[in-house]
Amino acid sequence: MANAVVAALAGSRCRKCAVAVFPASGERCRLCGGKADDVDLGTDGVVETWTQAGGALLAEVRLDSGVLVLGRIAAASVAVGDRVRVAGGTSGVTFQVT
Ligand SMILES: [Zn+2]
Repeated sequence: MANAVVAALAGSRCRKCAVAVFPASGERCRLCGGKADDVDLGTDGVVETWTQAGGALLAEVRLDSGVLVLGRIAAASVAVGDRVRVAGGTSGVTFQVT
């Protein structure tokens, strides 16, 4: 198996309301308009919900940093509560089950 370099997801966190979002909101918070800083959201999380669409598994993953991210699951099956890790992010986020 290739050792892919896993990049942490780049999001942003608002200085005013402290809400972190993915993808990054840019300079201003989408919720309150406060100044937002780019933050590293990490690579690991837990599956909260999942669905099957066109042969792909799609899941909402609650990252350990608290942000909910929609991504593909690179596995034959997945269950709510599974620990997953970012496996790539070139065209949307892909997670692998850990
Ligand atoms: Zn805000």
